[in-house]
Amino acid sequence: MRVVAEVLFFIALWVSKAVGLLLRLLGKNATQLPGRIAIIICPTFLTRLRKPAHIIAVTGTNGKTTTANMITDALVLLRHQVTSNAFGSNLNHGVASALLRDATLFGAARRDYGVFEVDEISVGKVLGPVHADVVVVTNLFRDSIYRNAHPGYIAGFLDAGLPDDATLVLNGDDILVSGLRPSASKRVFFSVSPLPGEPPSPPNLVIDARTCPRCDAELVFDFRRYHHIGRVHCPVCGYHSPSADYLVTDASAGQLTLETYGIQSRYPLVDAGVTSIYNEVAVIAGLRELGLKSEDLARALARVHVTDNRLEVIQAGGKRIVLQAAKGTPVAASRVFADVSAGPGRKAVITFLDDAHDAADSTENITWLYDADFELLVDPSIAQVVVGGKRHLDFALRLDLAGLPAERLVSVLDPKTTADLIELSDIDTIYVLYDLFNGSTAHVIGQRLKERLA
Ligand SMILES: [Zn+2]
Repeated sequence: MRVVAEVLFFIALWVSKAVGLLLRLLGKNATQLPGRIAIIICPTFLTRLRKPAHIIAVTGTNGKTTTANMITDALVLLRHQVTSNAFGSNLNHGVASALLRDATLFGAARRDYGVFEVDEISVGKVLGPVHADVVVVTNLFRDSIYRNAHPGYIAGFLDAGLPDDATLVLNGDDILVSGLRPSASKRVFFSVSPLPGEPPSPPNLVIDARTCPRCDAELVFDFRRYHHIGRVHCPVCGYHSPSADYLVTDASAGQLTLETYGIQSRYPLVDAGVTSIYNEVAVIAGLRELGLKSEDLARALARVHVTDNRLEVIQAGGKRIVLQAAKGTPVAASRVFADVSAGPGRKAVITFLDDAHDAADSTENITWLYDADFELLVDPSIAQVVVGGKRHLDFALRLDLAGLPAERLVSVLDPKTTADLIELSDIDTIYVLYDLFNGSTAHVIGQRLKERLA
């Protein structure tokens, strides 16, 4: 029996490696299919394949790709050999594809570090066979209802799937994350202190954690940064946000100041936005727990650049055109709306999010519109909002309910015509907010705006 399993493993390894090679020769993406084939041939493939000596995994609703990529970049800058599933699938097939690509023909690992972004629902499937030394959990929010139901449901998957023998690096400012897997042998928490200029109470409609996870009484927010991110306590049973092992005490003038186990250290600030600060402290905490030295990390972070391929800025006719992908989910869209609302000058917004409800990559329904903070687009600095696409009437209704005056709202079926409907005089920036799957339309609109401004 054992010999049969062993033979199956090698057949799986060689067939999947050959498939991967063939796909790459054909210029195709080999980040999912090889692993899928390997697991079909040998269901215990991931368990049997030898892994890099040090493994760190990243999961959570938002920020996991950026965080995992920064970890990989930092390790590479420190001259480590890294296997990662960047640019690939974050399910077990994707992790298997990455590992087998970098394995020898005998199934041994050729790299010393493994960095894997893992989908929340797949955590058990991946981290069962792939023993991570450190697992970072960025945050938990309501996401796509179709795939992710509710953050409590996802927390259940994580609680069951996270390993007991890894160090868990948890967001201490997210009560849904900080309570995960209490049986783990080591849990450390990261947190960001209130920073200068942060509003005391954010305008978000949705707070995914309102009640005490222990006694169900209403939680009190001592500080709320956005949505349910902040510091809480329960007035009934005393349950509270954990004290931070990695506490950002300041993030200004290009420096991030961190208090770790009573010792202060400074790191280059990769990006000053608050979500970026969370990503950076998650990276630092994860790599410190993996055994890297603070000074080496600071050296690497000075050279890490976060390229945001979801954001593109075009200058034309003295104005800015900002093309920005905004996932059609409540929190991701609300974060983008907050950035647009806070952006400088007079603005106009074109949006055609989530407009493919009859396409193959159809999303789900429109409930997310009522969980996202469209109220932020009513800000007086936004002179006009033009909505396009098959759901333009749903968006128009939502913006009407948010209180956007009718004279500032334009609604049209064909998103490509939105560029011609923008009133350009007296505007400094035009934001084009598109979904992850309709970027080509955004570029057509960007080009048309550029022509009009030229
Ligand atoms: Zn309580």
